[in-house]
Amino acid sequence: MTSSASDARSSRSFLPLGRYSFGVGDRFGHQARAQLRAFLLAAREGADIIPVWNKSYREHSTIGSEPANVRVAAEAAIRELGWTKPFHIDADHITLKTVDAFVASSDYYTLDVADAIGTPAPSHEVEKFLARHPELLQRIDLPGQSWPIAMSRATASLIAARYLPAVREAGRIYKHIADVKGSANFITEVSMDETGSPQKPDELFLILAALADEGVPLQAIAPKFTGRFNKGVDYVGNVNQFEAEFRADIAVIAHAIKVFNLPDNLKLSVHSGSDKFSIYAPIHRALRDTGAGLHLKTAGTTWLEELIGLAEAGGEALALAKEIYAEACEHRDELCAPYAAVIDIDPGKLPSPSQVEKWSSEQYASALRHDQKSPEFNPSFRQLLHVGYKIAAKLGRRYLDMLDACEAEISRNVTSNLFERHLRPIFWAEGVTATVAGWQEREEADRSKVAQIHTSSNA
Ligand SMILES: [Zn+2]
Repeated sequence: MTSSASDARSSRSFLPLGRYSFGVGDRFGHQARAQLRAFLLAAREGADIIPVWNKSYREHSTIGSEPANVRVAAEAAIRELGWTKPFHIDADHITLKTVDAFVASSDYYTLDVADAIGTPAPSHEVEKFLARHPELLQRIDLPGQSWPIAMSRATASLIAARYLPAVREAGRIYKHIADVKGSANFITEVSMDETGSPQKPDELFLILAALADEGVPLQAIAPKFTGRFNKGVDYVGNVNQFEAEFRADIAVIAHAIKVFNLPDNLKLSVHSGSDKFSIYAPIHRALRDTGAGLHLKTAGTTWLEELIGLAEAGGEALALAKEIYAEACEHRDELCAPYAAVIDIDPGKLPSPSQVEKWSSEQYASALRHDQKSPEFNPSFRQLLHVGYKIAAKLGRRYLDMLDACEAEISRNVTSNLFERHLRPIFWAEGVTATVAGWQEREEADRSKVAQIHTSSNA
């Protein structure tokens, strides 16, 4: 180990992040309460999961919102529901160009260095790096792993040349935030997920060595995993291979914490993590077997629950949900273009706006709701609406007023989507069968008991 490697932990203080944290996005800033209810329910069932509200520069630009709005909405929910545990505000996928707008309101920064991957580092830098890290060229047997990590000098040189510039960039962004904010006041995550090819466990190991050299006290790292993480729908890929890779990454991180003196609570962050139902059981098993922490980010899944709630409310709200779909169909190419790499829409499976016009509340909601067992569920319909939030943003007040008018229908869907379909399978797998409906019933019962006690003691 080198002396500079110890910088990452010893000389840099940081705001600590809890073992389990979960990112929620709230495109229109109306669902923080409904989202927080899912975490309250989790806490009642015994799981400490830290809520993190994440929003990227791209989302803010599309919606026309400001980073400060995210904190205001989250803090209002925290006060109203009496949440006493930590929560964080994540400046998601920021770069040196976009970070300044987030300095005042965020305490969690996801440094996006994907753009710096690919311009190879000069060979003298690669040589210097490898000379500093002879341990990268030694064979490492990781606990629980069938294969050791063994990098040849040639492989290590290639990986280092590929990732060193990205790591330098992470160092620059980190130092910029630390200078203006103070290193003790924020959490650092490094993301490399929005890039062409996945990072294998040996690449992750080398990247962590380089981040330690840069003095970045990262607490979460988001590699690109093998397989497709399409927006709003299930994982597409080999689930067994994902599980093996995920477990190897956990083992690599545990080893890197020791040898590179990185923060003890460094953990994996899974981006585009919503709705990846088929990998939740493998993730759960890996966390249970290793004691590793996890951060998992979701974003657009909540906006789709808003649409489901509008559809269920019927009347004008259902009409608005249909109008949004019709507009999304009309602007399909433009809406899909920025997301081309992360959606798979089959145009032949998209119902025409005139068909949808005739749909009942139930038909709209069940085509959209992510229930893979339902024959009515339509992944193409869901994905088009997922990228269609720009249409709702353009509706402005009309859309926001309708969210207020249908709060009951929407918040029920937002909470149960996060709790029942996400938190529960990831953090409990089996065992916890609590539902939001059951919880509401119990709350009602508790309230009426309290009311009875009051009436009888007054009498
Ligand atoms: Zn990401």
